[in-house]
Amino acid sequence: MKSPLKNSPPIPASLAPLGRIRDITPREVFAIQEQLGVNSIRDLIVAINNKRLETVDGLKPVQIKNIKRAFKLYKTAGSRVPLWDARLAGDELLRALSQFPEVEKAALTGSLRRGKDTIGDIDILVQLNEADHRKLLYKLARMAQTDHIIAIGPHHVCIVLRNQLQADIRLATHKYFGASLLYYTGSAQYSDTLKSLATAKGFRFGPEGLADSQTGEYVAGERETDIYRQLGLDYLEPELREDHQSMTALQSLPPLISFNQLKGDMQIHTNWSDGSESIAAIAKYLSHTFPQYQYIVITDHVSAKRPNHVLPPEDIFRQTAEINRVNGLMGSDYIKKGVETDILESGDPELANDILQQFDWVVASIHTDFTRDNTDRLIRACENPFVHCIGHPSGRLIGIRPPYPVNWEAVFEAAARTGTAMEINSRPNRLDLNDNLVRLAVDKGVKLVIDSDARTLAHFDFVKLGVSMARRGACCKKDILNTGRWEEIAAFKAAKLQLLRK
Ligand SMILES: [Zn+2]
Repeated sequence: MKSPLKNSPPIPASLAPLGRIRDITPREVFAIQEQLGVNSIRDLIVAINNKRLETVDGLKPVQIKNIKRAFKLYKTAGSRVPLWDARLAGDELLRALSQFPEVEKAALTGSLRRGKDTIGDIDILVQLNEADHRKLLYKLARMAQTDHIIAIGPHHVCIVLRNQLQADIRLATHKYFGASLLYYTGSAQYSDTLKSLATAKGFRFGPEGLADSQTGEYVAGERETDIYRQLGLDYLEPELREDHQSMTALQSLPPLISFNQLKGDMQIHTNWSDGSESIAAIAKYLSHTFPQYQYIVITDHVSAKRPNHVLPPEDIFRQTAEINRVNGLMGSDYIKKGVETDILESGDPELANDILQQFDWVVASIHTDFTRDNTDRLIRACENPFVHCIGHPSGRLIGIRPPYPVNWEAVFEAAARTGTAMEINSRPNRLDLNDNLVRLAVDKGVKLVIDSDARTLAHFDFVKLGVSMARRGACCKKDILNTGRWEEIAAFKAAKLQLLRK
């Protein structure tokens, strides 16, 4: 604890966390308390939300910023980072933490663990002996990744990293690591629901474990599963812990889709259009790096209308010959001949059906008119017997362009009726379909594919983000077409053709 400065009153216990924030002295705490009538952290948060902190005499902008950061109230749409960037930063931090000898284990929590498409800050939970907590907090302050500390408490430190992301690191012991993991993974609403449920069953639930509400005696906390069992619930995957309905509605769900179940990548761009790698280099890389893949689909943009970064229709034949050549060298049909074609204003694909028929896989995507209602275009594209999949269906670019207006019920009904798949495009700034639309599509019986839409070799890992979206949308293996062998995909295409020819 800091000792109060001369002439300053001691910090009241109810506002103690405020005193652990960088550059905030008892004098400032007193000013906030006096001038705003703030007597608890709850009051303080209301005052921050109502922008009243800015009216306090003697409180500097940097102090206000530190207070907002410490209570996670600084975030705006622009301060959120894509899941991909946050994962890379989070993994780096986990690696750094695991090198401290005191650390028994560490895990991501918060929205990063839940796999949200954008992340406010990196939440991490560390397990170590109670006796080492203080020692570790000092080490964290001096860690290479740390730019500066915003707030520090007995079991918690809030850091601004050198990459300017915020990391909240909480400490737990073996005895309550699972309880803390469950509590801090959230969402806040989900944790609150668990708390109420615990109360109704005669327990008290918090980051330090599940306790008997009468005696205060510790009941469980080492593992998340221990707490779920005590509450009479099935374990719920972190990606589904968003709202309280998920507690009961998703109780008897089959296992969620996992990355290991994918058997191929369904959208890849090469240096024949806007990608940077050759077909041969991609095939070599994927067959070594993703040995679970049985097929990969090359889907360069083919267009006669767009001048740049596309494959002109007259080159399709040459590209097909190259795919055949590389397949010949590999001694298999590993590389499939796909295409991404534009959906025209009318909803028809730009390429004529006699051309589309030559491909193993046809993705049709909207690349123009991002503001109009595109329901009719998407439905019309589904109705084409040779369109197998709608690419990045909502058209959003996270942080840049909102999705265009669409009546999704109608589009997903059309997709289900015509046997057309919808893409979960895994590029970090697309993640399209998003989690909510994935769930709606699955409810309507639409099949989905998860693909990378890669332009370089490094992009193939993006599919893990698509898997997160699918899991958040409660997808199981059967919902994702490319968990099947190529024969199953061929059957899916044949079924559509037959359906539309009737
Ligand atoms: Zn596209």
